[in-house]
Amino acid sequence: MDALLRLEDVRKSFGPIMAVDGISLSVARGEVLGFLGPNGAGKSTTMKVAVGFLRPDGGRVEICGIDMWARPVEAKRHLGYLPEGAPLYDEMTVRGFLKFCGAARGMSGSGLKRAMEEAAERTRLTSVWGQGIGTLSKGFRRRVGLAQAIMHRPDVLILDEPTDGLDPNQKQVVRDLIREMAKDSAIIVSTHILEEVPAVCDRVVIIARGRVVAAGTAEDIAARVPDGAEPSLEMAFRHLTTRESAGRAAA
Ligand code: ADP
Ligand code: MG
Repeated sequence: MDALLRLEDVRKSFGPIMAVDGISLSVARGEVLGFLGPNGAGKSTTMKVAVGFLRPDGGRVEICGIDMWARPVEAKRHLGYLPEGAPLYDEMTVRGFLKFCGAARGMSGSGLKRAMEEAAERTRLTSVWGQGIGTLSKGFRRRVGLAQAIMHRPDVLILDEPTDGLDPNQKQVVRDLIREMAKDSAIIVSTHILEEVPAVCDRVVIIARGRVVAAGTAEDIAARVPDGAEPSLEMAFRHLTTRESAGRAAA
């Protein structure tokens, strides 16, 4: 199983705050990895390092076997990224924004047009094609963010809380899209919404305070509850993440 995304012992601190404290993980083509952790655990920081936006203090990032800091331009060519909160340009139309993003990735002419149309179809944006981004609802805005992340058909997709703040129907649309995109890419998706994990993710990594505290299938992890308790991902999550905090606080 060839990993398209590989993080090796990644570390990143902000002054005295150790945001990412030695995280390693890998994701293969066809796989969706759920990246879970409480608020402030280091999910977004890990993802920013994985996409080459932040330079790690230590460790390695490899995209399709390409070292992010040795060959950043090449590595980033294989990447699609939906940042936390999915920032967009409100004054642009959906069409204008996708054109801008495609051009920034070096696409032009009929190739760019095809990529734009295909991304709009996959994210169901055709009905708002000429509309200003500032006028769109939250669900549509998130899909615009997803469209720019997938339009160059990247091998590796990094999605930071893609369903955060969406209503149940909008969440479902985004989940379906992630499953569909997983057919030909390696996807890492952060979330703190545990109910959606079994439906979307093949595998899970849980972090707390910048460290991996559990890795495996949702089913394996759900079994890691205190003695005698019913298997439950929610309870295991709480058990694993608070135990880690308590351990570190005492150390
Ligand atoms: P998560 O995405 O899991 O909620 P983050 O990666 O955003 O966590 O944050 C991890 C820790 O790093 C938090 O304590 C956060 O306050 C801190 N942090 C994140 N970004 C910065 C920054 N640019 N400057 C200082 N501290 C930061
Ligand atoms: Mg975050």
